[in-house]
Amino acid sequence: METPQLNSLYQQLILEHYKKPRNKGELADPTAEIHMRNPTCGDEVNLYLRVEEGMVVDVGFTGQGCSISQASVSMMTQKLKGTSVDDAVQLAQKFTRMMHGDADAARDRSLGDLRSLQGVSKFPVRIKCALLGFDALQEALKAEAAVEGSRP
Ligand code: ZN
Repeated sequence: METPQLNSLYQQLILEHYKKPRNKGELADPTAEIHMRNPTCGDEVNLYLRVEEGMVVDVGFTGQGCSISQASVSMMTQKLKGTSVDDAVQLAQKFTRMMHGDADAARDRSLGDLRSLQGVSKFPVRIKCALLGFDALQEALKAEAAVEGSRP
């Protein structure tokens, strides 16, 4: 699928993450593992999280697909390592709001490199690409919370 025309600096950042993804690879001992597909574009992501005492201590992913989907996951994992589960949930919510056109979320510097994906929100069919990793994250955190809750 064709890459939408974005601000060229942002475009470069997206391509840079796509070519050199951060935290790519499986985790040996994840506490949550989620597989997500975006059938519209053929993107796939496997997200691995290791959560200990409410903190994301390690994160990894594997996957394939368009540059937007893979760069988005790479940027997301960059923000996740060492963060609390609460902050990870907030990050996912903020990013989702930005992708749905929320101007306040788009100005939020805490999104870091992820702000480069803001322009994708103008291309409705590609929003799913950008959100794929975050959908996986939200599922993983839900799974994690369920496991936590069942521990004595
Ligand atoms: Zn895609």
